[in-house]
Amino acid sequence: MQSDRYAVVGNPIKHSRSPEIHSAFAAATGQALTYERLLAPLERFVETIEEFRRVGALGCNVTLPFKEQAYRYAGEHTPRAARAGSVNTLKFGAGDVLGDNTDGAGLVADIENNLRASIAGTRMLLLGAGGAARGVLPALLDRRPAQIVIVNRTAERARALAEDFPGVAEARDSLRAGETFDIVINATSAGLAGETPTLPDGLLARARLAYDMVYGRDDTPFARAARQQGAALVADGLGMLVEQAAESFLLWRGIRPLTPPVLALLRNG
Ligand code: NAP
Repeated sequence: MQSDRYAVVGNPIKHSRSPEIHSAFAAATGQALTYERLLAPLERFVETIEEFRRVGALGCNVTLPFKEQAYRYAGEHTPRAARAGSVNTLKFGAGDVLGDNTDGAGLVADIENNLRASIAGTRMLLLGAGGAARGVLPALLDRRPAQIVIVNRTAERARALAEDFPGVAEARDSLRAGETFDIVINATSAGLAGETPTLPDGLLARARLAYDMVYGRDDTPFARAARQQGAALVADGLGMLVEQAAESFLLWRGIRPLTPPVLALLRNG
């Protein structure tokens, strides 16, 4: 009997850990499915998805740089995908395609359930104004922080994002000496190039949580800086990756797998 097929589509894609995660979820929940990595050429996202649908696939995750194209491709959107304007999960129906965005729910679940940090009432700093920042803003705002400030090296992009999310308090291109945030989230891709956004001395020392959406085998440059400055709690984005995957699995299979064992498996793998 043929298994149900899923994939993660992106460019590049070979370093994605999503197949490990979904295979572990499938084993734990007794679901028969396969989950592969699919490299889409930069100009052929839609063709790649259509080909995958033609062979009978049931859905896919979408990663860099295709989340906005995935939003346009989907004929229907979940409310959270519609608010974010970007899609990281597609579910293929008989005629139509549903687009969801599970990144925000994944980040919030990691912060609140795995790291046991509360978002409500905190002063939050969101570094970066790309697709990842856009994807998580609805879920962060729903947790009612006291304030969210967006800082991005390109001010225009930060301001454009804040215009789409009226709950954002401020958007600018730099940090001020001495300002304080309870939670600092690095949603830039600087870590992929071994860099970290420019941060004033002591900013992370005063944070209760310094969170990098990027993850790797070793500490990311941002996590290293946070530890050096003495942040109370430092985390990378592996927990978010597992939690957003669990939300996608729920959309596809109707069951939300337990995430702590899979996160532990990935940390030790
Ligand atoms: P993106 O749309 O390309 O945006 C990149 C952002 O990073 C922009 O705001 C960009 O600033 C900023 N940036 C890049 N290099 C920088 C540097 N050297 N210094 C300061 N800022 C810099 O990418 P994205 O989709 O938002 O993804 C961002 C990161 O989040 C990626 O590393 C991705 O892997 C990660 N992510 C993780 C998860 C997870 O589950 N853990 C989920 C989603 C995304 P400009 O606007 O000035 O160019």
